[in-house]
Amino acid sequence: MKKQKTVEETFTYVKYGLLFTVRLVKTFRNSYSIRVNSKDTLTVRAPLFATQTGVTALLDKHFNWIEKRIPAAISQTENGKAPDEEQIKELADKAKEYLGIRLPYFARLLDVRYNNVTVRCQKTRWGSCSAKGNLNFNCLLSFAPTEVFDYVIVHELCHLKEMNHSPAFWHEVEKIIPDRKIHEKWLRQNGSALLSLAKKI
Ligand SMILES: [Zn+2]
Repeated sequence: MKKQKTVEETFTYVKYGLLFTVRLVKTFRNSYSIRVNSKDTLTVRAPLFATQTGVTALLDKHFNWIEKRIPAAISQTENGKAPDEEQIKELADKAKEYLGIRLPYFARLLDVRYNNVTVRCQKTRWGSCSAKGNLNFNCLLSFAPTEVFDYVIVHELCHLKEMNHSPAFWHEVEKIIPDRKIHEKWLRQNGSALLSLAKKI
């Protein structure tokens, strides 16, 4: 019997501040498959002729799909285990890095100014905005799709204009994020699985 040839490679894939270790398994097959193993590991099964550049392009193309599977992968692989201190620091750093780029961008679009920004691993809320213009974001947003993180950023920044949830407030949010309801739905459906990680700390 002919021995089946399998080639395995590992490489690093970075997207929107998220870092993944990709296990690339090449065999005699014609199609590709992607599996989200955990919040930072992916397995890609591919034909023998596949290249890391080609697989990176494939991951870019399907990144929305990958991101949506991360919360489920967390609860499966880590069995809902609370992140340890080192992981929290890592998550907070990732969130800070993302906020460092997106906060000034959206603040400019909305023409608002904010004061201090803090990132904490919180049990109940995704973000908050104080009367003094201080913003706070949940480090667990690092696990959410970037569009959802952007929505939370815009939501809190709009509170610098309207300190309530009046129609005027939602009008401001929708100027920047017209499909905000999709992101609110994602938070309703997946948010509690993520927040429950913080509850165990
Ligand atoms: Zn609000």
